[in-house]
Amino acid sequence: MEQGIALNLVVMMFVMMITLVILTITYFAMRRIIFQEIMRQVQTVRKVMTILECPICRYSLVREFKQGDYVGKLCDEYCPRDNNRLIITSIIKE
Ligand SMILES: [Zn+2]
Repeated sequence: MEQGIALNLVVMMFVMMITLVILTITYFAMRRIIFQEIMRQVQTVRKVMTILECPICRYSLVREFKQGDYVGKLCDEYCPRDNNRLIITSIIKE
């Protein structure tokens, strides 16, 4: 009889451990999904933009920020009006 109770306890503990493991895995998976979703929203809402301007005719262009952009940098983009190289005049967060 006592052996039966001991066996029941072992089975119960085993089931509890499995439940705990499943809950832990679910918790971390959910947390990762929620974190990724938040990061995606933050990135889409707060996009960094670079404003380029032609130093001659003041033509301006807005494009997405690229690595290495800084204010005053001469860009590889050209002014469609007079073909001068555009200069970065500001970097903004939308
Ligand atoms: Zn120009």
